[in-house]
Amino acid sequence: MAASLPHIRLPPLPSIRDLVKLYRIRALKKLSQNFLMDERITDRIVKAAGHIRNHYVCEIGPGPGGITRSIIKQSPHKLIVVEKDARFLPTLEMLQEACKGYIKMDIEIGDIRSYNLEAGFAGAPKLGWFEAPPPVHLIGNLPFSVSTNLIIRYLQSVSEKNSAWSFGRTSMTLTFQKEVGERMIAPIMHKQRCRLSVMSQLWCEVNYKFTIPGSAFLPKPDVDVAVVTFIPKKYPLVDLPFKMVEKVLRNMFNMRQKYCIRGAERLFPEDMREYLGLKLLKLAEVPPTTRPFQISNEEFVRIFYAYKIICEEHHGIEDYDSRGPKLVNDEELEV
Ligand code: SAM
Repeated sequence: MAASLPHIRLPPLPSIRDLVKLYRIRALKKLSQNFLMDERITDRIVKAAGHIRNHYVCEIGPGPGGITRSIIKQSPHKLIVVEKDARFLPTLEMLQEACKGYIKMDIEIGDIRSYNLEAGFAGAPKLGWFEAPPPVHLIGNLPFSVSTNLIIRYLQSVSEKNSAWSFGRTSMTLTFQKEVGERMIAPIMHKQRCRLSVMSQLWCEVNYKFTIPGSAFLPKPDVDVAVVTFIPKKYPLVDLPFKMVEKVLRNMFNMRQKYCIRGAERLFPEDMREYLGLKLLKLAEVPPTTRPFQISNEEFVRIFYAYKIICEEHHGIEDYDSRGPKLVNDEELEV
């Protein structure tokens, strides 16, 4: 990697507030656009991502470029910004011009959900899973609906070590609705514990870094915002197909306040529900009268493996899904 200056001093640029005014960019409700104007906050988000100097960074949803400026100041080797709304192209091109010669900045206008991260990070070193995390980072202040959906996709990629995780244990620094951030870190017995907590913690070290008050955004959202970092675990707690784990958790947390036997039974067709539900929990050594939020990550892992054993014993059970073959989406996560 070429050496770059310790910190880039950007030439005088109009403020984000002025740019938004200049280009008459009105926040679009359908894209849930809320912009950060305060450089101290955008600097803090980038600081939460750790050391990025000379590294490869992808910023998701740069909008008018507040966080982008803070990233550029830290002199990454390469910066890719992926923005769905083409109205931001001129403001992003202004930043691209300002850091020319120091940082290779690529602007992609499109949806992050169809962006090929592995191709974008091409050239970054591929490190082994047991080595330190690679010099590759994802940073983004996205609409809440997109970020929750995205983290599920990315957790699947972490579990399969593909996409940005073909480079090693790539870190993520993302924003969520405060309550969703709290769920992600919720330990056993916590009132916020849900399947998103277990899914996040099975594969990643999850850290709730800080809260950004809604008032820091323009326009102001109704809720406060959590800045959360994810670093993939060297030793994930489970080594089973993501979809299987997700299905077990979705059913187990289906009735949060009820005994977990109710959720366990839902994993099986009606004629064998009672018997296999009990067998599952017996194999996993989890009492049937435990409530889902009272189950530790380790106990859940025993439940996943017990489910696998039952699937191997009963042909066709693995394909059974009481709710049909539904992908995880945002509504579903709002349980
Ligand atoms: N990062 C900027 C900031 O902090 O001020 C803008 C944040 S705004 C909450 C979210 C940004 O993500 C918007 O610019 C929006 O157009 C963009 N966006 C929304 N959905 C997207 C998607 N699927 N892919 C890429 N960008 C998206």
